[in-house]
Amino acid sequence: MSDHFAATYASARAKFRAAAEQAGATMTAHVHPEKGPDGGALATDVARFGPADAERVVFIVSGTHGLEGLAGSGCQAAWIKSGGPARLPEGVAAVVVHMLNPWGCAWSRRQTEDNVDLNRNFLDFSAPLPNNDHYEALRSALRCPAYDGPLRDQARADIAAFRVERGERAFVCALFQGQYADPTGIGFGGQKPTWSNRTFRQIVAHNARTVKAVALIDFHTGLGPFGHGMLINTNATGSPGLALAKSWYGHDMAAVGERPEDIPYEIKGDLCGALERMLGNAVVVPTALEYGTFEVERLLGLQIDDCWLINHGDVNSDLGRRIREELRHFFYPATAEWLAMIETRALQVIGQAIAGMARV
Ligand SMILES: [Zn+2]
Repeated sequence: MSDHFAATYASARAKFRAAAEQAGATMTAHVHPEKGPDGGALATDVARFGPADAERVVFIVSGTHGLEGLAGSGCQAAWIKSGGPARLPEGVAAVVVHMLNPWGCAWSRRQTEDNVDLNRNFLDFSAPLPNNDHYEALRSALRCPAYDGPLRDQARADIAAFRVERGERAFVCALFQGQYADPTGIGFGGQKPTWSNRTFRQIVAHNARTVKAVALIDFHTGLGPFGHGMLINTNATGSPGLALAKSWYGHDMAAVGERPEDIPYEIKGDLCGALERMLGNAVVVPTALEYGTFEVERLLGLQIDDCWLINHGDVNSDLGRRIREELRHFFYPATAEWLAMIETRALQVIGQAIAGMARV
């Protein structure tokens, strides 16, 4: 089994930094203002390989959703240890961003320190924020103040009734589309840019000054069949970026710009779209790599437990620790089989992006 993977933020960071330093990276650490549960420092680390003035850059990002970063971190370390940096084509740089939301990884949550889903936070906050009527309709059930007992049973019944009345698409929308009105609720996208959002903008501004073409691979977990790595590309239909993505990655890719019906809601405020807007003059190929874990039904219960814990529970109690442990297991199953599958897929996708970038 691969030893690139780690079970904690601190260990993942140490493995990543050691691999990157040994491979001769230019390293930058963006230190987070808060600490981990062990009192340890938190940071987003950036390892850059290749020429400083590269016009073609591949960004490889882990930990946009905190806890999901344990998977992405191991994939990043595996690519570095496999000799990827030494094989970069002439004129192509790789910028490996380790744990964009380090707080979430360390504290076993997908959200940032301010309960924000970072992948819904890249919005223009001077403009009106999107409504999520489905979330509002389910809000009190999703935010049930009881962990179990009659109140929680009633919340489950209310959620079941909502699913029958409005359908599964509405239900998935309520949970995953993002909402901007309930700061301590589920799927909150924020009311201003979070630390991780601001940090990503700094990293891009610093590393994309000379670019004409950029690819993004943003690692996620929790959606799809166990161990399967699904590419989700967000280029607009008919765009040069989408044509490149298809030529690099082939058919095993969901192109949501071309087929928005493939997902039940319009994604707003995500990292992929943000990178395209930041680099308006460059060709950008933004893609998430989403690894499947377990069934979505399990995720539903965990999201409600997670929300209950931050509002009504104690993270240091046995129950609090158990909820965080269950979250970690859901987003990072870490069986030998799962890790081998995601590592193989990561090396394939990163290799495709870099080889494709050499031909741009
Ligand atoms: Zn994710």
